[in-house]
Amino acid sequence: MKIHEYQAKNILNNHGVPVPQGEVVNTYSEAVEVAERLGGKVVVKAQVHAGGRGKAGGVKLVYSSNDAGEVCNSLLNSNLVTIQTGPDGVPVDKVLIEEIIDVQKELYVAFTIDGVKKNIVAIVSEFGGMEIEEVAQNNPDKVLTLEIDSSLGASPYKARKLANFLNIDAKLIRSAASVISSLYDVFVANDCSLVEINPLVITGDGRILAADAKITIDDDALFRHPDLFEFYDPAQEDPFEKQAAEFGISYVKLDGDIGCLVNGAGLAMATMDVTRSSGASPANFLDVGGGADESKVSEALKIILLDEKVKKIFINIFGGILKCDIVARGILDASRNIDREFPELVVRMLGTNFDEGREILMKSDLNISLVNDLREASDSLKSD
Ligand code: GDP
Ligand code: MN
Repeated sequence: MKIHEYQAKNILNNHGVPVPQGEVVNTYSEAVEVAERLGGKVVVKAQVHAGGRGKAGGVKLVYSSNDAGEVCNSLLNSNLVTIQTGPDGVPVDKVLIEEIIDVQKELYVAFTIDGVKKNIVAIVSEFGGMEIEEVAQNNPDKVLTLEIDSSLGASPYKARKLANFLNIDAKLIRSAASVISSLYDVFVANDCSLVEINPLVITGDGRILAADAKITIDDDALFRHPDLFEFYDPAQEDPFEKQAAEFGISYVKLDGDIGCLVNGAGLAMATMDVTRSSGASPANFLDVGGGADESKVSEALKIILLDEKVKKIFINIFGGILKCDIVARGILDASRNIDREFPELVVRMLGTNFDEGREILMKSDLNISLVNDLREASDSLKSD
């Protein structure tokens, strides 16, 4: 679960990581009031669950409290489109008004999970700011990634090693190292999958401040953090993904045109690989789950078909607890309850009650290619 910058900064503040003074608002008059209190010159920052706001006009420096109000108004109730959002962008319901800080240097510091290393890693660079992706691409030697041994934590030695890499004034190493260990504490204490400070700013007067903060909490650990769950902001979620979550279906929207309905996350990943290697492109990841019933299969198909780009659906089921006849009945149910024309289905089923499922599908008047294996499936996906 992603949380907003202002919420992340609260957490940082509670762990002793310095952040700029500021307040979150959602009206013109509040914006003016807060800006006045901060001395008039402020940064106005759209609060959305996406990075790249600076380049998209979502972060603006203003020099009077009235301008703060105006910028706030133009951001509120608009959709901000950044490089990390879809073409429709995400709604801005709140803006953060902060003191302008005197930025001398922008650093990058992040903690995340490296799935290959099966470990927490720290990633730091002295070239933080809005071009960090290019730095990672073109000057990878300017980015240091260190594994953190979770039994030792961000030990003083590791924290200092990371701070030293930042090429900052020797006087600042200690406080940079202390900020780095506090960020690790934030990561662990909140079961995060990402804590990213970009930029971590060195100011003209030698202070270190987190000018931006992105925190993602591991969904599977949320039950341990009821206080964090209050930060859930459904307005920032993809509407299709939100609807899927309500039915307990794991769905991730992608930009291809082959809808995928699968049981099991691993099989769903493999199904997307097969789709891609056939030259087609998946419209989504979808795991309907092991214990799905007829209505869940039907809902999954309806969600897949909310995406107007979908022109074919690849159903790949390994029938175990989820029986093939249940899947077939779910397909029929969806076809009866959907407004748009039902596209061609490429169905590969195996396992429990296969014969019954197959018969149901063969008797229907749907456009179905029932295939025996993934090679045949791949050929059917390829064929136009
Ligand atoms: P992002 O583009 O979504 O990552 O938004 P950021 O919060 O990182 O803001 C983008 C950029 O705005 C930063 O990299 C800074 O260069 C700039 N910025 C943000 N706050 C301040 C500030 O208080 N003073 C100055 N001079 N620049 C700021
Ligand atoms: Mn940033």
